[in-house]
Amino acid sequence: MNHNLNPPDKQTLNKLKAIVGTGGWALGSQPTRHFDDPRGRFKGKACLILLPSTTEQVAEIVLQCNSSKLSIVPFSGGSGVVAGQLSLDSDHAIVLSLEKMNKVRDISVDDGVVVAEAGCILENIHNTAQQHGLMFPLSMASKGSCCIGGNLATNAGGIQVLRHGNARDLCLGIEAVLPNGAVYSELSPLRKNNTGYDLRNLLIGSEGTLGIITAATLIVKPIDPESVTALCAVESPAQALMVFKQLRKAMGDNISALELMSKFGLELVIEHFPSLQLPFSLNHRWFLLVEVAGHKGIGSRFEEALANCLEQELIADATMAQSQTQQTNLWDLRENTPEANRAGGAFCSSDTAVPISKVDAFIEHTTNAIYDIHASLQINTYGHIGDGNIHHNVLPPTGHAKATFINENPGIVELVRMAINDATVKFDGSISAEHGIGRLKVRDLELYAGETKLAAIRRIKEALDPNGIMNPGALIDR
Ligand SMILES: Cc1cc2nc3c(=O)[nH]c(=O)nc-3n(C[C@H](O)[C@H](O)[C@H](O)COP(=O)(O)OP(=O)(O)OC[C@H]3O[C@@H](n4cnc5c(N)ncnc54)[C@H](O)[C@@H]3O)c2cc1C
Repeated sequence: MNHNLNPPDKQTLNKLKAIVGTGGWALGSQPTRHFDDPRGRFKGKACLILLPSTTEQVAEIVLQCNSSKLSIVPFSGGSGVVAGQLSLDSDHAIVLSLEKMNKVRDISVDDGVVVAEAGCILENIHNTAQQHGLMFPLSMASKGSCCIGGNLATNAGGIQVLRHGNARDLCLGIEAVLPNGAVYSELSPLRKNNTGYDLRNLLIGSEGTLGIITAATLIVKPIDPESVTALCAVESPAQALMVFKQLRKAMGDNISALELMSKFGLELVIEHFPSLQLPFSLNHRWFLLVEVAGHKGIGSRFEEALANCLEQELIADATMAQSQTQQTNLWDLRENTPEANRAGGAFCSSDTAVPISKVDAFIEHTTNAIYDIHASLQINTYGHIGDGNIHHNVLPPTGHAKATFINENPGIVELVRMAINDATVKFDGSISAEHGIGRLKVRDLELYAGETKLAAIRRIKEALDPNGIMNPGALIDR
């Protein structure tokens, strides 16, 4: 698709500024956090940043941009890691940030829902639900900065997908402004609604290319009376999967999180976050962070199940958090992993999902393929193993700075990236488990999605956004 989007003229810019009023806009020529990539790899551009406060303002902006053929880049928390929220090659874009639309509009204990505006920070939704004895289960390391609009636009996953599903599974209704400026609103808390095409599910995961999500009705659940976290040492990913199988038999659906970490990954976290504590010495190669949640007494059932795993020598060591502080410390080891990767100079970060039955073979194959490219690379393999979602972060050899290493090894970033992609395809996986396509994986989607899917995506985009104003360059090429 090739649309000729216009650079904005002064008169149109003034109209857009007038829609949001003083304090509702900033010039793109000023330094702004809206251009920052969380991994520090590149900078976004724009001519104007608009900060609407209401859905009506969003609709007026989109209507104006559509009639003037101006491109819009939707922005919520800016924590996306595939540059979907960053215009990288054109400063003609209007960044539309939802940050002022940050109200929880309603909470209904009877319907089990929260209605939140797109700019609500995920952690604030957690806190609001908690005040009513409820919880919103979507959670991830970026919870303090990402917003529900971005979570839905990327169909985010995170650490509790195993038990509660991803963003899509936790959303009953959507309010959004479509590319023609029309407001689509189905925010009712209905659990059944088979009335034609499901626009909600089309908008979820569309990464700002089909409209701007302005609010959502989200499923909240009663807080589990008990939740227990343990860190277990295992010898291999294969053994981690055997532990999962065993625990699933004993705990059923009460396993809410299952995170794989490696010795190297934990050493990296401790190097960059020295105040964190390891509960035992790192004599083992792999670690499994497990959380179970449910009725009172679930902790003792979990302890029993872990004891069985120890007895069968599936687990080499285990520690169970005895207090909230210990639980937080265990989670901090996991949640600081992305930042430790960044600080350690990771030059390649993958987001693969493979069938759970193939996780261990996938890890082994990928690791060998990366070492074949350069035997001294450092690989931090970790992720939501219970969902088959593995992240490989590849760092330069010890003692080598990222920039120098990449300069001295031209083409290595692409070689490693393609080795991981090829392995992903070989093991029937997805090249984007939870982060989306953004601007970084457009070519990969073209390579791997298949003609039928690509053609359908293009037709849907063309039908809903004929002028191509919504996030051009993200997800599919213009
Ligand atoms: C440390 C760290 C840990 C992370 N862990 C996870 C994880 O475990 N699981 C996971 O899934 N992701 C994770 N992420 C990635 C990121 O946090 C998620 O993709 C998140 O859902 C993005 O939300 P955001 O509000 O920051 O969106 P943004 O970055 O602002 O935008 C992301 C995309 O959505 C579009 N968009 C934003 N708002 C809207 C809207 N209102 N309407 C339409 N389109 C919109 C943007 O144009 C862009 O394409 C992590 C990121 C970091 C930095």
